Amino acid sequence: MSMNLQSLFALDRAGFAAVVVDAGGKAAHARALRRGVLRDGPSALSSIDTRGLRLPKKLVEELATRGYAAATSQLNAQAPSADGSTKLIVDLTDRKSVEAVVLPAERGGHAVCISSQVGCPVGCPFCASGIGGLVRNLAAHEIVEQVAHARAVADVRRIVVMGIGEPLLNFEPLLQALAILVEDGNFAERRIVISSVGFPDRVARLAASGRRYGLAISLHAVEDGLRERLVPLLRGVSVREVVEAARGWSVAIGGRVQFEYVVLRGVNDDLAVCDELARLLGGFDAYVNFIAWNPVPGLPFERPADARMDALVRRCRDLGLVATRRKTLGGDATAACGQLRRSLAAPTVRNLASEPVASMTSPESAPPPATGA
Ligand code: SF4
Repeated sequence: MSMNLQSLFALDRAGFAAVVVDAGGKAAHARALRRGVLRDGPSALSSIDTRGLRLPKKLVEELATRGYAAATSQLNAQAPSADGSTKLIVDLTDRKSVEAVVLPAERGGHAVCISSQVGCPVGCPFCASGIGGLVRNLAAHEIVEQVAHARAVADVRRIVVMGIGEPLLNFEPLLQALAILVEDGNFAERRIVISSVGFPDRVARLAASGRRYGLAISLHAVEDGLRERLVPLLRGVSVREVVEAARGWSVAIGGRVQFEYVVLRGVNDDLAVCDELARLLGGFDAYVNFIAWNPVPGLPFERPADARMDALVRRCRDLGLVATRRKTLGGDATAACGQLRRSLAAPTVRNLASEPVASMTSPESAPPPATGA
């Protein structure tokens, strides 16, 4: 890994095509090269199957000479779990790391849950990922490369941007990355879900983009005071404003909104929550996923009882909501947006082997966001 390498995914399609043309190739070669890497995973350009991809060998050599690489990040470690999920630790060029999790999907193939930032600025007190705050945003290519690394490991067909970070606070790089994944990674927009705590202006921007990605909103509370405690960066933004922003997105895109609700024993697990959810979510295409909080050492919360989880789902359904209790994958760490276990500062194969794969919610365990595409 070199600080001077440039990723094949640093530029948008037109920008990279210009690079390839300047290096003596054609625009179609740019697409073929990126498609090959996103299909098979990154490898050294010198070992790319140029014949199979119908690429001039000289072109690929020239790109390598100019400092281009299939990925500037490196897959540091994989930690498979008994349930079939695999946590990936991806090292970035500045010695930071991000996590992605490959999950078996119930409808075949796999999904990958990717991170959008190093650390997270939102600071949810029940989440390990927010403890250190935001370190930095990921660049577009660092987002794309997580998927490329995952494709080297599994047949990935869906993407959930539900790992570490608040995706909509890294808006432009995120959308640039997702556009590359749609154009060159062969992902339909409806097979990509973005999870956010729901900054209303950013949700509106997402709607205005016209992209038909799925939207998941991490709600966690129905009462403003409690939500401000649980989602501190959105202090001053009411629950109703968040829901209305999601409703606006749903109307604009014609998509179903998935509301995530991490249940904390004695904090936000009163059954009256269901009545308020029914009032808030009435009249638009939405559903609720209840996720039992899984303990993070040192954090002052408790996991709810199974019976309470079932009661919440039942009560919501009685009130006419679509509600599920979300299955988690990956052992006993935390679940939901960014609750991948806070990775050690410098993860190694050794310490990963003794650590449960961070629990991710199975993207196939709930009704898919109906983006209608
Ligand atoms: S739950 Fe999500 S938004 Fe909250 S701190 Fe963790 S990663 Fe950030």
